[in-house]
Amino acid sequence: MSFGGRVGEASDVLTKKYALEYQISDMARYNHEHNMIYIHDLSAYAVGMHNCLSIPFDDLLAKGFNTRQTDVRPAGSINTAFQLVAVIFQLESLQQFGGVSATHLDWTMVPYVRKSFAKHYKDGLKYINNIDETNIDYAIAFMIKNAKDYSIDDSEWEAYSWQAYKYAIDLTVRECHQAVEGMYHNLNTLQSRSGNQLPFTSINYGTCSLPEGRMIIRELLEVSLEGLGKLHKTSIFPCGIFQYMKGVNDKPGTPNYDLYQLALKSTAKRLYPNYANVDWTGNAGYDINDPRTYFSTMGCRTANGWDVNGLGQLKDGRGNICPVTIIMPTLAMIAKETVRNGFANNTIDAFMQILDQKIHEAKDMLLERFEWICSQSSDSAKFLYENGLMAGYVPEEGIRSALKHGTLAVGQLGLAETLQILVNTDHTTNLGMSVAKRIEQLFKDRIAEFKQQYQLNFGVYYTPAENLCYTAMKKFKDTYGEIPKVSDREYFTNSMHVPVWHEMTPFEKIDIESQLTGYSSAGCITYVELSSTVSQNLEALETIVNYAMDKDIPYFAVNVPNDTCLGCGFCDEFNDACPQCGCEEIQQLRRVTGYLTGNYKTAFNYGKQKETEDRVKHL
Ligand SMILES: [Zn+2]
Repeated sequence: MSFGGRVGEASDVLTKKYALEYQISDMARYNHEHNMIYIHDLSAYAVGMHNCLSIPFDDLLAKGFNTRQTDVRPAGSINTAFQLVAVIFQLESLQQFGGVSATHLDWTMVPYVRKSFAKHYKDGLKYINNIDETNIDYAIAFMIKNAKDYSIDDSEWEAYSWQAYKYAIDLTVRECHQAVEGMYHNLNTLQSRSGNQLPFTSINYGTCSLPEGRMIIRELLEVSLEGLGKLHKTSIFPCGIFQYMKGVNDKPGTPNYDLYQLALKSTAKRLYPNYANVDWTGNAGYDINDPRTYFSTMGCRTANGWDVNGLGQLKDGRGNICPVTIIMPTLAMIAKETVRNGFANNTIDAFMQILDQKIHEAKDMLLERFEWICSQSSDSAKFLYENGLMAGYVPEEGIRSALKHGTLAVGQLGLAETLQILVNTDHTTNLGMSVAKRIEQLFKDRIAEFKQQYQLNFGVYYTPAENLCYTAMKKFKDTYGEIPKVSDREYFTNSMHVPVWHEMTPFEKIDIESQLTGYSSAGCITYVELSSTVSQNLEALETIVNYAMDKDIPYFAVNVPNDTCLGCGFCDEFNDACPQCGCEEIQQLRRVTGYLTGNYKTAFNYGKQKETEDRVKHL
């Protein structure tokens, strides 16, 4: 392990122990230690950090910001703007323990494409048309009649000098490309935090049909397709998320349909982008004139729902404050015991009762943590609060004024195994699905009540559980042993997902999971496993993504095996040796949550490795 990793791990052990033994209530500790309700990131709990944030880049780039050492001027070109995005991602990720995202990066970058274009156009007039500087300023001022609304497509530019226009467009495209490349390099190299981690970055884009926005989307996708470094490896960050929107990019004839096609090409080869559904019914009440309210997500799946404290569907400046996860199979075993011991008649009813109590306790655990986070000084996250990264912050009122717009997430693990315990089947059957809906309805109802009662954004969360799926299973086996179809594997199934080993088509998987995504409000993801041959059949991929969006899936991803030969860079699906050069050093990239993780055989825990190997292809 690296030096940074060792330092991080040592402090993790201590802060976790401290949180568990001295900070949290007996109720919270009991639930955590008995595999009932898991408290995520205990080490961050100890220091009072919050989880994640969607960054208001529009404001930060336009106004500039302060850091401990200096202040940074507003961005004056597309190149600077993209470098600042990487810097801001980096700085903010040190103020919290989870991910950072940009919610509509294409729209955000429009003014900076224009600034770069105007600069290049001026140079064109000066060096190609030999116009002197005073006259250039006069001409530019004439063309930019309205500094906010001009477009690089306006006919005046070309009419005044077609040479300068052509020159400026070419240079702006080139600058955009290099700026995006620069951002990709920064986000894959600038390590921060203990353990020398890269910040978990996600960028949402795809709906801007202005020529400037389209240029940005195209370059983001081109760079994603190109890959990184000498071998053109698939980049792990940022997690790209294409915002699919009816009438904008969904069908032939819509303005950004060509970019959707390019996105599909990138997905087939690089696994990114994933797809966010702007028309998702769960994001009702958004403002079609304000891209900051379009449905966007953190790569992992955490998303901002309707804010009960006045910001509505605004995504910028909001994030998840903290999550807990209810380990449902443990509760199902307790329900069974209750019936066996004669304290209840019906296992399902007994389970619902226990679950109800645990949802209430989960709420109390989140409130406990929320109060602790709110009691921190704004100086502990100076960059965040001083620069207004969290929406709604009023210094005189303390940081609660900002934190109250964030989400308190009640997560869940192992719906499939829970159903096996309760009714001997999972939600791939009608019986299983009917019980699944009862369970999710209870989550949804209680969360809605808490939201009103406490005026805080509680949300139903379909937890990623990248480590928990394994550690919770280990604990479960210690208590209950190996039960067929429940604990005969090394991992619990994620949230409400269909178990990875079920044989079915992608459409069947979408049909099942789409019946449950509507109950969630704090984030969920659906993925399907496809073979690498899909890159030769983009039409099939398009059909699948369209199907998922039509079925009202909010966030959709496609898993395609991505093996890269570290000898020659050949990228496809292969196991032992490179078919091109025979080299046996292979990087096997797989998806773990919504993000990709480097070589899964070293980066994933044992349970997740086993899960990865059990995944069956849906097409
Ligand atoms: Zn090779």
